[in-house]
Amino acid sequence: MDEGFTLWFTGLSGAGKSTIANLLVERLREIGRHVELLDGDEIRKNLSSGLGFSKADRDANIRRIAFVAKLLSRNGVIAITAAISPYKEIRDEAREEITNGGRNPNRFVEVYIATPLEVCEQRDVKGLYKKARAGEIEHFTGISDPYEPPEHPEITVSTVGETPEQDVDQILGRLAEMGLLPAQPAGVYSEDEEALVSERLKNLGYL
Ligand code: ADP
Repeated sequence: MDEGFTLWFTGLSGAGKSTIANLLVERLREIGRHVELLDGDEIRKNLSSGLGFSKADRDANIRRIAFVAKLLSRNGVIAITAAISPYKEIRDEAREEITNGGRNPNRFVEVYIATPLEVCEQRDVKGLYKKARAGEIEHFTGISDPYEPPEHPEITVSTVGETPEQDVDQILGRLAEMGLLPAQPAGVYSEDEEALVSERLKNLGYL
């Protein structure tokens, strides 16, 4: 069985967590891995319906996500969580739980989607920043609620001036460096890259 682990995404609303996580799911499935995405908004609709955005409710939401991610990742699945998870302490608690008190340190990879607030606000994908600025939403992370960036994330992605595909490549490369994925996983080339490689091999007379 492949080793499972959790990719714990954290970052502001609109940072790019869902976009990058969805692409990553596709790429990991292409190399034959079992992957499950625990998307923040999705989880709030089902597993955590009824919870709000107070500190206590946010903590409860994260604890539930961590519990499910633990079950998945100890069974060979790559669990990707994509919730804001603004509080450092509770992310550290998730790490403790998923790594089984540090006994399986590789089972938790914190991925900081480090898009600055100004950029997230400019993107305003869901129109929420505008509402939060107008005082229509309380407890909005980055505006009227805190966000505590990770101090030692295993992976940091900036997203500014980069495409989501480039960010996914960066994450896959880093996972390979960490020994969590094969160094050159088969089939991770995009169609364009594959065409380029065959072209080169043809020119060299190998094909
Ligand atoms: P989150 O899940 O963190 O709230 P989303 O993925 O829903 O964020 O939204 C991020 C937005 O930023 C999307 O509209 C996406 O197209 C855009 N975006 C621009 N550049 C990037 C990038 N490099 N990575 C991810 N998203 C990006």
